[in-house]
Amino acid sequence: MSWLRCQCGYIIHDSSDFLSYKGSIMADQDESDYFDRVEEIIKSDNPNKNSLMCDFLRELGYMTKTIYQCSQCGRLYIEDNNEFFCFRPENHTNNDVLKSVHGEKWKGFLHAEWRDNKPEWAEYKGYVSADVNYPCESIDSDDRQEIIDGYYELFEKLRQADVIRSALLKINGKRIHDWTL
Ligand SMILES: [Zn+2]
Repeated sequence: MSWLRCQCGYIIHDSSDFLSYKGSIMADQDESDYFDRVEEIIKSDNPNKNSLMCDFLRELGYMTKTIYQCSQCGRLYIEDNNEFFCFRPENHTNNDVLKSVHGEKWKGFLHAEWRDNKPEWAEYKGYVSADVNYPCESIDSDDRQEIIDGYYELFEKLRQADVIRSALLKINGKRIHDWTL
């Protein structure tokens, strides 16, 4: 699924990883099978752990159901057999129930890009954007220096707050700054 239209009209997008409004749930009836498999892999003397892990991840995908929350109204959508079932909250709700257990301290990503030749789909030549739960502002601009300065400023801020695991600044396709925790 790349997007889902909530009954309130809001579009729930699923076009990237690490979404703060998406999760996976597992039936209690499947949980012991899951732990049995983990134990089996840990104890296995099969030298090809990579292939065991791939099989396991495939099984895990099969054992879990996807859940989304609408950030606007808080409705939950749970997928079962390729169909989404909608659950509407009572008056008071938390629209962030699927966020990482680390909350604001979750380590996310900072990315920025500048292109002298703006692609047709882009509104500006440059952007600085952070996928973090920590409060910060994105930048869109046609001023190259503003993008570069904005990137480094935000990088320092997010790194000091210890809320990023990687950061990347690209200028005309070239990696100018590439940082990983
Ligand atoms: Zn909604």
